[in-house]
Amino acid sequence: REFADAGLHPAMLENIKSCLYVAPTPIQAYTIPAVLTGLDVVACAQTGSGKTAAYLIPVLSKLMGKARMLAAPRPGASRYNPATDRVRAEPLVVVVCPTRELACQIFDECRRLCYRTMLRPCVIYGGAPSRAQREQLEQGCDILIATPGRLADFMSNMNLLSFNRLKFTIIDEADEMLSTGWEDIIEKLFAGSDTNADADHTYLMFSATFPKEARRLAREYMDTDYIRIK
Ligand code: AMP
Repeated sequence: REFADAGLHPAMLENIKSCLYVAPTPIQAYTIPAVLTGLDVVACAQTGSGKTAAYLIPVLSKLMGKARMLAAPRPGASRYNPATDRVRAEPLVVVVCPTRELACQIFDECRRLCYRTMLRPCVIYGGAPSRAQREQLEQGCDILIATPGRLADFMSNMNLLSFNRLKFTIIDEADEMLSTGWEDIIEKLFAGSDTNADADHTYLMFSATFPKEARRLAREYMDTDYIRIK
Protein backbone atom coordinates (compact mmCIF):
# COMPACT_ATOMS: atom_id res chain seq x y z
CA ARG A 1 0.00 0.00 0.00
CA GLU A 2 0.91 3.62 -0.52
CA PHE A 3 0.30 6.71 1.61
CA ALA A 4 -1.14 8.41 -1.49
CA ASP A 5 -3.98 5.85 -1.72
CA ALA A 6 -5.09 6.11 1.89
CA GLY A 7 -7.39 9.13 1.50
CA LEU A 8 -5.20 11.42 3.60
CA HIS A 9 -5.42 15.23 3.59
CA PRO A 10 -3.12 16.78 0.94
CA ALA A 11 -1.22 18.75 3.63
CA MET A 12 -0.55 15.48 5.45
CA LEU A 13 0.78 13.84 2.26
CA GLU A 14 3.14 16.79 1.85
CA ASN A 15 4.37 16.48 5.44
CA ILE A 16 4.85 12.71 5.10
CA LYS A 17 7.07 13.45 2.09
CA SER A 18 9.06 15.99 4.10
CA CYS A 19 9.62 13.32 6.77
CA LEU A 20 11.01 11.11 3.96
CA TYR A 21 8.54 8.32 4.74
CA VAL A 22 8.22 6.54 1.41
CA ALA A 23 5.94 3.63 2.25
CA PRO A 24 3.82 2.80 5.31
CA THR A 25 5.27 0.32 7.81
CA PRO A 26 3.01 -2.71 8.55
CA ILE A 27 1.51 -1.15 11.70
CA GLN A 28 0.77 2.02 9.70
CA ALA A 29 -0.77 0.06 6.81
CA TYR A 30 -3.35 -1.43 9.21
CA THR A 31 -3.87 1.43 11.66
CA ILE A 32 -4.26 4.36 9.23
CA PRO A 33 -7.38 3.04 7.40
CA ALA A 34 -8.98 1.88 10.68
CA VAL A 35 -8.60 5.31 12.31
CA LEU A 36 -9.73 7.13 9.15
CA THR A 37 -12.89 4.99 9.24
CA GLY A 38 -13.50 6.14 12.81
CA LEU A 39 -12.79 2.88 14.61
CA ASP A 40 -11.19 2.54 18.04
CA VAL A 41 -7.90 0.63 17.87
CA VAL A 42 -5.88 -1.52 20.24
CA ALA A 43 -2.50 -2.24 18.66
CA CYS A 44 0.37 -4.39 19.74
CA ALA A 45 3.45 -2.46 18.67
CA GLN A 46 7.11 -2.17 19.61
CA THR A 47 9.26 0.94 19.48
CA GLY A 48 10.83 1.21 16.03
CA SER A 49 7.74 -0.13 14.23
CA GLY A 50 6.58 3.35 13.24
CA LYS A 51 3.76 3.26 15.81
CA THR A 52 3.90 7.00 16.54
CA ALA A 53 3.20 7.94 12.92
CA ALA A 54 0.64 5.12 12.76
CA TYR A 55 -1.64 7.09 15.07
CA LEU A 56 -0.49 10.66 14.35
CA ILE A 57 -0.93 10.45 10.55
CA PRO A 58 -4.65 9.53 10.46
CA VAL A 59 -5.62 11.57 13.54
CA LEU A 60 -3.92 14.77 12.34
CA SER A 61 -5.13 14.20 8.77
CA LYS A 62 -8.75 14.03 9.99
CA LEU A 63 -8.31 17.26 11.95
CA MET A 64 -6.63 19.08 9.05
CA GLY A 65 -9.95 19.14 7.22
CA LYS A 66 -11.54 20.79 10.24
CA ALA A 67 -8.77 22.85 11.77
CA ARG A 68 -10.28 26.20 10.93
CA MET A 69 -13.65 25.30 12.34
CA LEU A 70 -12.29 23.73 15.47
CA ALA A 71 -9.46 26.08 16.40
CA ALA A 72 -10.15 27.40 19.89
CA PRO A 73 -10.06 31.09 20.67
CA ARG A 74 -6.47 31.90 21.58
CA PRO A 75 -4.35 34.96 22.10
CA GLY A 76 -3.31 36.31 18.72
CA ALA A 77 -6.15 34.61 16.80
CA SER A 78 -8.78 36.86 15.28
CA ARG A 79 -11.59 35.15 17.22
CA TYR A 80 -9.85 35.62 20.57
CA ASN A 81 -11.56 38.13 22.82
CA PRO A 82 -9.61 38.75 26.05
CA ALA A 83 -12.70 40.20 27.73
CA THR A 84 -14.77 37.04 27.39
CA ASP A 85 -12.48 34.15 26.51
CA ARG A 86 -10.66 32.43 29.32
CA VAL A 87 -7.09 31.47 28.57
CA ARG A 88 -7.06 27.73 28.82
CA ALA A 89 -6.10 24.88 26.62
CA GLU A 90 -8.85 22.80 25.01
CA PRO A 91 -6.98 20.08 23.11
CA LEU A 92 -8.65 17.99 20.42
CA VAL A 93 -6.17 15.17 20.97
CA VAL A 94 -4.38 13.93 24.05
CA VAL A 95 -1.48 11.47 23.80
CA VAL A 96 -0.28 9.98 27.10
CA CYS A 97 3.05 8.14 27.29
CA PRO A 98 5.30 6.98 30.14
CA THR A 99 8.53 9.00 29.79
CA ARG A 100 9.78 12.47 29.07
CA GLU A 101 12.03 11.15 26.26
CA LEU A 102 9.14 9.45 24.51
CA ALA A 103 6.91 12.52 24.98
CA CYS A 104 9.56 14.72 23.34
CA GLN A 105 10.00 12.26 20.44
CA ILE A 106 6.25 12.16 19.85
CA PHE A 107 6.14 15.96 20.02
CA ASP A 108 8.93 16.25 17.40
CA GLU A 109 7.20 13.86 15.04
CA CYS A 110 3.89 15.64 15.63
CA ARG A 111 5.44 19.02 14.83
CA ARG A 112 6.80 17.71 11.55
CA LEU A 113 3.44 16.16 10.62
CA CYS A 114 1.52 19.36 11.55
CA TYR A 115 3.86 21.64 9.60
CA ARG A 116 2.03 24.47 7.78
CA THR A 117 -1.34 23.64 9.27
CA MET A 118 -3.46 25.36 11.92
CA LEU A 119 -2.83 22.53 14.37
CA ARG A 120 -0.71 23.39 17.36
CA PRO A 121 0.96 20.67 19.45
CA CYS A 122 2.22 21.11 23.02
CA VAL A 123 4.20 18.79 25.27
CA ILE A 124 4.10 18.59 29.09
CA TYR A 125 6.21 16.30 31.28
CA GLY A 126 7.50 15.99 34.82
CA GLY A 127 11.00 16.74 36.05
CA ALA A 128 10.93 20.25 34.61
CA PRO A 129 9.36 23.46 35.94
CA SER A 130 5.69 23.65 34.99
CA ARG A 131 5.64 27.39 34.36
CA ALA A 132 7.03 27.34 30.80
CA GLN A 133 4.77 24.41 29.93
CA ARG A 134 1.77 26.27 31.36
CA GLU A 135 2.64 29.34 29.24
CA GLN A 136 2.83 27.12 26.14
CA LEU A 137 -0.65 25.79 26.87
CA GLU A 138 -1.99 29.30 27.35
CA GLN A 139 -0.95 30.10 23.76
CA GLY A 140 -3.47 27.46 22.62
CA CYS A 141 -3.09 23.73 22.23
CA ASP A 142 -4.79 21.36 19.78
CA ILE A 143 -2.67 18.28 20.41
CA LEU A 144 -1.48 17.67 23.96
CA ILE A 145 1.35 15.18 24.48
CA ALA A 146 1.83 14.38 28.15
CA THR A 147 3.39 12.12 30.72
CA PRO A 148 0.84 10.93 33.28
CA GLY A 149 2.10 12.72 36.41
CA ARG A 150 2.26 16.18 34.85
CA LEU A 151 -1.06 15.54 33.11
CA ALA A 152 -2.63 14.73 36.51
CA ASP A 153 -1.20 17.99 37.92
CA PHE A 154 -2.58 20.03 35.06
CA MET A 155 -5.93 18.23 35.04
CA SER A 156 -6.50 19.09 38.69
CA ASN A 157 -6.18 22.76 37.72
CA MET A 158 -9.41 23.00 35.75
CA ASN A 159 -8.91 26.55 34.57
CA LEU A 160 -5.85 25.46 32.69
CA LEU A 161 -7.05 22.43 30.77
CA SER A 162 -10.47 21.49 29.47
CA PHE A 163 -11.39 18.29 27.65
CA ASN A 164 -14.64 19.64 26.23
CA ARG A 165 -13.33 19.58 22.67
CA LEU A 166 -11.43 16.30 22.99
CA LYS A 167 -11.96 13.92 20.03
CA PHE A 168 -9.06 11.48 20.34
CA THR A 169 -7.60 9.85 23.44
CA ILE A 170 -4.34 8.02 22.67
CA ILE A 171 -2.43 5.87 25.15
CA ASP A 172 1.10 4.96 24.03
CA GLU A 173 3.08 2.23 25.84
CA ALA A 174 -0.01 1.51 27.92
CA ASP A 175 1.55 -1.49 29.68
CA GLU A 176 4.43 0.65 31.00
CA MET A 177 2.04 3.11 32.61
CA LEU A 178 -0.43 0.53 33.92
CA SER A 179 2.38 -1.38 35.62
CA THR A 180 3.84 1.68 37.31
CA GLY A 181 0.77 2.93 39.14
CA TRP A 182 -0.69 5.36 36.64
CA GLU A 183 -3.94 3.43 36.06
CA ASP A 184 -5.97 6.00 38.04
CA ILE A 185 -5.07 8.90 35.79
CA ILE A 186 -5.64 6.85 32.64
CA GLU A 187 -9.00 5.70 33.93
CA LYS A 188 -9.90 9.30 34.82
CA LEU A 189 -8.97 10.43 31.32
CA PHE A 190 -10.98 7.62 29.70
CA ALA A 191 -13.98 8.24 31.95
CA GLY A 192 -13.81 12.01 31.30
CA SER A 193 -13.68 11.53 27.52
CA ASP A 194 -16.56 9.08 27.77
CA THR A 195 -18.91 11.67 29.26
CA ASN A 196 -18.19 14.10 26.43
CA ALA A 197 -21.33 15.10 24.57
CA ASP A 198 -19.44 14.07 21.44
CA ALA A 199 -20.47 10.49 20.65
CA ASP A 200 -17.79 9.89 18.03
CA HIS A 201 -14.88 10.00 20.46
CA THR A 202 -11.99 7.78 19.36
CA TYR A 203 -9.75 5.75 21.70
CA LEU A 204 -6.42 4.36 20.52
CA MET A 205 -4.21 2.20 22.71
CA PHE A 206 -0.68 1.07 21.79
CA SER A 207 1.27 -1.38 23.89
CA ALA A 208 3.91 -4.11 23.66
CA THR A 209 1.83 -6.42 25.89
CA PHE A 210 -1.79 -6.40 27.01
CA PRO A 211 -2.10 -6.93 30.76
CA LYS A 212 -5.53 -7.52 32.33
CA GLU A 213 -5.93 -3.84 33.18
CA ALA A 214 -5.39 -2.77 29.55
CA ARG A 215 -7.96 -5.30 28.35
CA ARG A 216 -10.45 -4.09 30.95
CA LEU A 217 -10.04 -0.43 29.86
CA ALA A 218 -10.60 -1.42 26.22
CA ARG A 219 -13.70 -3.46 27.12
CA GLU A 220 -15.14 -0.78 29.32
CA TYR A 221 -14.58 2.37 27.26
CA MET A 222 -14.02 1.48 23.62
CA ASP A 223 -16.69 0.82 21.02
CA THR A 224 -17.60 -2.87 20.91
CA ASP A 225 -16.33 -3.08 17.32
CA TYR A 226 -12.83 -1.84 18.18
CA ILE A 227 -10.06 -3.26 16.00
CA ARG A 228 -7.20 -5.30 17.40
CA ILE A 229 -3.94 -5.08 15.45
CA LYS A 230 -1.00 -7.37 16.18
P1 AMP B 1 8.46 4.66 16.35
O1 AMP B 1 8.19 3.19 16.26
O2 AMP B 1 7.21 5.47 16.29
O3 AMP B 1 9.33 5.02 17.53
O4 AMP B 1 9.27 5.10 15.02
C1 AMP B 1 10.57 4.68 14.74
C2 AMP B 1 11.24 5.56 13.68
O5 AMP B 1 10.74 5.26 12.39
C3 AMP B 1 11.03 7.05 13.88
O6 AMP B 1 12.30 7.68 13.80
C4 AMP B 1 10.17 7.48 12.71
O7 AMP B 1 10.49 8.79 12.30
C5 AMP B 1 10.48 6.45 11.65
N1 AMP B 1 9.34 6.15 10.74
C6 AMP B 1 8.02 6.11 11.05
N2 AMP B 1 7.28 5.77 9.98
C7 AMP B 1 8.13 5.58 8.96
C8 AMP B 1 7.97 5.19 7.57
N3 AMP B 1 6.77 4.94 7.06
N4 AMP B 1 9.08 5.09 6.81
C9 AMP B 1 10.31 5.33 7.34
N5 AMP B 1 10.54 5.70 8.62
C10 AMP B 1 9.47 5.81 9.43
